[in-house]
Amino acid sequence: MPEAAIFAAGTLMPVSGPPIPDGAVLIQDGRISAVGPLAEVSRANPEAPVRFFPRSTIVPGAVNAHAHLGFRTKDAPPGGTFSGWLTKLIERLPEKESWTAEAARDSAREAVEAGTTFMAESSPYGECLPQLVESGMAGTVYAEFFPGDYDGAEPRDIVDSIIQRVQKMNDGLPPRVAARVSVHSPYTVDPESSRLAARRTREMGWTLAFHLSESPEEVEFVRKGTGGLADIFGSNAWGGVGVSPVRYAEGIEMLAPETIAAHLATGVGEEEVEILARTGVAAAHCPRSNENLGCGVSPVPLMMERGVRVGMGTDGLWSSPSMNLFEETLVALGLHGFDGATALRLATLEGARVVGVGGETGSLEAGKWADLAVVEVAPGGSDPELEAVEAAAGGGVVATVAGGDVIYNRAEG
Ligand SMILES: [Zn+2]
Repeated sequence: MPEAAIFAAGTLMPVSGPPIPDGAVLIQDGRISAVGPLAEVSRANPEAPVRFFPRSTIVPGAVNAHAHLGFRTKDAPPGGTFSGWLTKLIERLPEKESWTAEAARDSAREAVEAGTTFMAESSPYGECLPQLVESGMAGTVYAEFFPGDYDGAEPRDIVDSIIQRVQKMNDGLPPRVAARVSVHSPYTVDPESSRLAARRTREMGWTLAFHLSESPEEVEFVRKGTGGLADIFGSNAWGGVGVSPVRYAEGIEMLAPETIAAHLATGVGEEEVEILARTGVAAAHCPRSNENLGCGVSPVPLMMERGVRVGMGTDGLWSSPSMNLFEETLVALGLHGFDGATALRLATLEGARVVGVGGETGSLEAGKWADLAVVEVAPGGSDPELEAVEAAAGGGVVATVAGGDVIYNRAEG
């Protein structure tokens, strides 16, 4: 059994409470068993070895509420419009097969080196599960399924098939990693398959990932059945229903507390936010991807005001410049005028609440998993959390600990 260990820093930011100068966490069996001033924690546990970073700050590990691992920066399709980008992405899928696994490994590594300890990843049929497991992060891989791949099978059979496949994927996984189902989007999955997948996974107590109300083209597809997405898929069989994507999603029973809706960047007004709040759906905010693909700005402050859970997501490297969740959060801070404490909370505890693990991670509290990042910064100004987020966004993470294991230590390369 692993020995107890103390991690301490000049500043410790539990997020669940105010920063602690010379603060420490005691880690036992992968979990935090005490939090407080280093002097107290070490006095009560004199046997535990202490790793003290006097010029650094310890924050909870970042929780990435929406990401794709299997992409790489060097051949990203150009941004500009969502449907233009998606057209190129689809064209490049065959050539991508040969390097997806390598890209997933690299993306996961980049996230770990930026202090990420939990990732909600979506990939076709969950293809990036092995690389998430290998990374040492906790997380969920959401297996996207595409009814077009099932040779005209009935929605019931399609949904049976993906659920069985995902159940098998859960065999033998490490305790903090799970496989679940993703309904990719309103323009790739027909309404009946979406409805059945949402119902059945909900009955099983599973969370569900969904891209929703991301682009102007999606709004047009759902409302009118026309535009760039109807052109790509050569069909508008279930588009053109005359309502917003959020109202459409509510109508097909996709919206519930188990659902994590990514993006919500376009076509989300007062009425849609009311639906999101009423149904209890959670939101993953990906502002850099949205900007790159001409998708507008998600009304995050309004959603938060109405009680919608909001976390941050990097999306993947074909639409976004990095897998650094703190960097993503800094962009949200700039867009919405948040202070540092709100930003740090969004990157950690709020993300954990979005992905259904708010009781287990996202803050430094006794009983939670020992998931944390050591950031090279000694904040001295009026907004210390902002200094910590900025440093983590700018490559300042020197160590990442997930479930009590050091999964990254810059000193050791
Ligand atoms: Zn996405």
